[in-house]
Amino acid sequence: MKGPGSDGRNAPPAGARHPSGGEARGRAGSAGGPVAGAAGGGPPGAGVYVHIPFCARRCGYCAFATWDDRSQLADDYVAAVRREVAAAVGSGLAPAATVFFGGGTPSRLTARQLSSILELVLRAPGAEVTAECNPEDAGAALLHAWREAGVNRVSLGVQSMVPSVLASLGRYHSGGAVEGAVEALAGAGLGDSYSVDLIFGAVGESMGDWERTLLAVLGLDPPPAHVSAYGLIAEPGTPLGSDPTRHPDPDDQAAKYELADEVLESAGYSWYEISNWSRPGAACRHNQLYWSQGEYRGFGCAAHSHELLADGRARRWWNVRTPERYLRSVLRGESPVGGGELLDPATRAAERIGLALRTVRGVDLADLPGGDELALLGELGLVELVEAAEVAAAPGDPAAGPLGGSQRSRVRLTRRGRLLASEVTLRLLGT
Ligand code: SF4
Repeated sequence: MKGPGSDGRNAPPAGARHPSGGEARGRAGSAGGPVAGAAGGGPPGAGVYVHIPFCARRCGYCAFATWDDRSQLADDYVAAVRREVAAAVGSGLAPAATVFFGGGTPSRLTARQLSSILELVLRAPGAEVTAECNPEDAGAALLHAWREAGVNRVSLGVQSMVPSVLASLGRYHSGGAVEGAVEALAGAGLGDSYSVDLIFGAVGESMGDWERTLLAVLGLDPPPAHVSAYGLIAEPGTPLGSDPTRHPDPDDQAAKYELADEVLESAGYSWYEISNWSRPGAACRHNQLYWSQGEYRGFGCAAHSHELLADGRARRWWNVRTPERYLRSVLRGESPVGGGELLDPATRAAERIGLALRTVRGVDLADLPGGDELALLGELGLVELVEAAEVAAAPGDPAAGPLGGSQRSRVRLTRRGRLLASEVTLRLLGT
């Protein structure tokens, strides 16, 4: 339900597609569900993603696996996801360090439907459990029930605080809905850990509109612990994609990205991934799994999974895309897997650099090919060298643990470099 990509925009960029859609640190234990130690069937640290493919309306920019005319399938869909989760747990799925309900719009499910899935997911102590929520769905009863079930982090799909920009995006909640949602979050004990998703670059959005959105979000009471801000993308096959008059302007988006970074940094948020900023200790642990090539298991249609193999390779696979095909497979006792791939060590190494470069920790200098490219990119102000100790202490990213590799200097993107992350990565890799 996040922007074009956070519903998938939390997606790792280099092929490691996020299961779908969108991201405080979990409180110890989780009410209402199984909590286990590492002895539950494998090493702790893996994540679980659950895809909910229902939305109230289809946003014109959205290319995610979600539908606005299938809510009649919700009961059967939940039953199928429960069956898929139970089978995985029965086969030794490790307790999850993070659980993420994305979509789609998880808040389109009833609280009971969502909790009936969550209660089957074995969770490690202190697991982070996030659910994406539309502001207009964020009522006190739903949020209290989520909290009771073990959700300890809510990601609100705000997108903009300016009505004309919301209309341009095809979204219809009002700024008042966001404030009401935040009040309800605080009442449910979720006010200190919530995140807000924003989109910039809609046609008709001025720089003043974007600044108004940023300041209004920072003025929420309580303010979010975490902010994701994504540039609008004209995805092929969407109404936005087929209307060139509404495509975002790259220069406008670059200026808005820089403004977001300045405003958020001055308010005490640190960037820890290109599109993500957090207060100290509030980085999204689930998304960090994607960016660090961690293991995760996806449930539901279109959900992706990633598993490390003992021989240095990894396996990535994904479920069939539509809820109908998914339901048919699972309820017949067949596998819902729609495809997959094996990743050899060389591919994994290239992806690791591409993913790490998107983060504040950057890449170990020793992992990059030699040559003049690095010096040139440095002269252009696109990358910088930082000391490993400085990176390890980055305030927004404490959950990632100690740095691997050598303790030599690390290469990371400057603010300007973040605007050109893909190009810089290709040049650093010499491809
Ligand atoms: S709320 Fe809009 S952007 Fe988010 S998943 Fe649904 S249709 Fe896509």
